Amino acid sequence: MSNTIAAPAATHAPESALPGRVIAVANQKGGVGKTTTTINLATALAAVGKRVMVVDLDPQGNASTGLGIESARREVGTYNLLLGEIDLAAAAMATALPGLSVIPSTMDLSAAELELVDLDNRERRLRDAIGAAATGQDYVLIDCPPALGLLTLNGLVAADSVLVPLQCEFLALEGLSQLVRTIDRVKNRFNRELQIEGIVLTMYDARNKLSSLVEEDVRSFFGNQVYETVIPRNVRVSEAPSHGLPVLLYDLSCAGSQAYVHLAGELLRRRGREVSKIQSTEDKHWPERDPPETASMPVVEDAGGETE
Ligand code: ADP
Ligand code: MG
Repeated sequence: MSNTIAAPAATHAPESALPGRVIAVANQKGGVGKTTTTINLATALAAVGKRVMVVDLDPQGNASTGLGIESARREVGTYNLLLGEIDLAAAAMATALPGLSVIPSTMDLSAAELELVDLDNRERRLRDAIGAAATGQDYVLIDCPPALGLLTLNGLVAADSVLVPLQCEFLALEGLSQLVRTIDRVKNRFNRELQIEGIVLTMYDARNKLSSLVEEDVRSFFGNQVYETVIPRNVRVSEAPSHGLPVLLYDLSCAGSQAYVHLAGELLRRRGREVSKIQSTEDKHWPERDPPETASMPVVEDAGGETE
């Protein structure tokens, strides 16, 4: 079966005024909710009409599986993209959700970390591959592996911003400081424009005192870089991947799905504010309408029952 990208649905035309935003979902720790956040944020954004592409940069391929792309169906993917063998469109596969595509992870990706070492521009391979091709997307979400090696470096160099899922557990802040130092180094050496998109607290357990203590610490240290939305620990979230479905499609009404709907709303709201800021400071000739990201916000908010 060939890899094909979904035909653009009428409701999923890319936002004309904005270039696609490339967001790396990263944390060097495993099991903190990177893949879950990538899959469900991508789904929530596609559900409100954004064109979204997930790049599975983890050799474990959990984002691909969780989006319903079983390994037997993956012929080419991120590995071939990194090696410059194919372009973004040829590597993309459609998912069950219109507007949401994925560059799958194939077995060879585990070798890429070593193979990349000898290549030119080894840390810019993904950036070059995504480059201009991403303009057809509103969002590209890169699911990074649980390490700070060459693959994650490629993710950070390709990205406009980093979204950090953080599990509320002992020593969470120490791990976070290490990641922030890495982000600073990447900024200084390879990608001046790299920003922190936000920190999202995951697998939050309201009955566990540690969760609220860690939350307090992280919020006092990182202020409004931390999303108000907190993702609760929720059994439906952990069941969904074995059905090859984002939890939003598996059980939309569960607390985990609703949290991801809210997170998408918050991300769009923040981005809308940023766009307005750029508009007023740069005096660009934007179309006479609301910032594109906020224009479709109410749909997210209706689904989440949240009002601003
Ligand atoms: P990472 O990509 O950082 O390694 P995952 O997203 O794969 O982390 O999550 C690790 C495990 O925790 C997975 O089994 C996933 O299903 C589960 N999980 C993630 N988020 C939640 C949640 N909010 N509630 C319950 N289980 C979760
Ligand atoms: Mg993962």
